[in-house]
Amino acid sequence: MQHLFSAKWILPVGAPPIKEGAIVVDDSKIVALGETDDLAARYPQAECRDFGRSIIMPGFVDLHTHLEYTAFRGVCDDLPYTQWKIQQIHKSRALDEADWLASARLGAMEAAQSGITTIADISPRSANLRAAIEFGLRGFVFYEMAEMDRNKVDSVIAEGQRSVAEWQETAHGHKIEIGIAPMGPQAACPPLIKQSADWARRDGLKISTHLAGSKDEYDFIKHGSSELAGSYRDAMGWGHLLWQPMGVSPVRYLLQWGFFDNDVLAVHCVHVDEDEIYILAEHDVAVAHCPKCSAKLGMGTAPLREFERAGMRVGLGTDSPASQNMMDYFDEMRIGLLFQRGKNQTIANAEAEAFVRMATLGGAKALGLEDVTGSLEPGKDADLVVVDMTRSHQRPLLDPYSALVYTANQENIILTMGSGKILYDSGSIPDIDDESVIAQVEPVQMKLR
Ligand SMILES: [Zn+2]
Repeated sequence: MQHLFSAKWILPVGAPPIKEGAIVVDDSKIVALGETDDLAARYPQAECRDFGRSIIMPGFVDLHTHLEYTAFRGVCDDLPYTQWKIQQIHKSRALDEADWLASARLGAMEAAQSGITTIADISPRSANLRAAIEFGLRGFVFYEMAEMDRNKVDSVIAEGQRSVAEWQETAHGHKIEIGIAPMGPQAACPPLIKQSADWARRDGLKISTHLAGSKDEYDFIKHGSSELAGSYRDAMGWGHLLWQPMGVSPVRYLLQWGFFDNDVLAVHCVHVDEDEIYILAEHDVAVAHCPKCSAKLGMGTAPLREFERAGMRVGLGTDSPASQNMMDYFDEMRIGLLFQRGKNQTIANAEAEAFVRMATLGGAKALGLEDVTGSLEPGKDADLVVVDMTRSHQRPLLDPYSALVYTANQENIILTMGSGKILYDSGSIPDIDDESVIAQVEPVQMKLR
């Protein structure tokens, strides 16, 4: 089945924008882009749909999610990072497997509604994998491991290997690959770092980890201080264990165990100095920058321009509604751009375009998926979104990049398509009753109060 979608602007991202353009999708693939009249003549069989005053662009690549934490929206608001984390640990104990799945489904639904077609999710539970498959998302689900007791690491790794094998079986035939995720330096003792790095290298698994996100993490790893050394460890059940401060930063801690000799997606990287950026760049570590989460939890602002200057692969992540309440991907672009300007006190060249690129092709490159998604190009999978630009605050539409970054929000998404399949269209998700997805999360939210 061929579709011809036309719109005011086609934004391929890998190539210049096309005004009054169209895109032809055949089954799961993009076959052509160009002027509408020309494509209509070349593909007379295609079913035509004109989106009028809108922008057709690649689906967003959300480089960091925790789908199952969607039900935590607003539950631990306005706390600094470590206290927020401790609250989350305590509240999590009230939930069972069915609750996590209901919450993950809500997250996957909100991703599709927000124009996100690819995710990189970290979770110790299979709920996220199941939800991502049900809602037709692409990407990675990373099996999360946390352990500070070196005597328990062997069993954590053995359990991880069993789970990863099971998850790979579940993901088979879908668009999701499985990776592994030691939670981050504050929750992974040296043997866990070393053994997961060795495992990933041996089995060719991609790794994602939280890294250098907060000042508390930095102080805990280097000096053994901060609230992460106290009530956080008690909440995780590690209060009785001795923690020998590493005397080095979180980046250098992972470096010394060969962690970066792998395909690594590091999340946050806010507290990194020039030398550490060089270390990350040298090892081709990709970064998931989560501007809204970092700001809301008071963690800081990542040195994005320095990452770019170092030639690193960087994309954007929403993290989760537990930390920043919404999966509105436009927020990430807008807030990300504004925080860089505030931090650097300068305006970079074509910055709105750079953020749209980071949100799409940049994220795809960070995941090694640039041959299948991230831009609109013949031969790539039809992962695309249609963004409505008819509202008064979006007029005039002079530059499509500026319009997307400065005036759009998730309510403007008309259509989300993944591999040629409609994931969301004009307010609804095919074959899924969105009201029932929301209703199933309500009792979960009651438990969390
Ligand atoms: Zn996270």
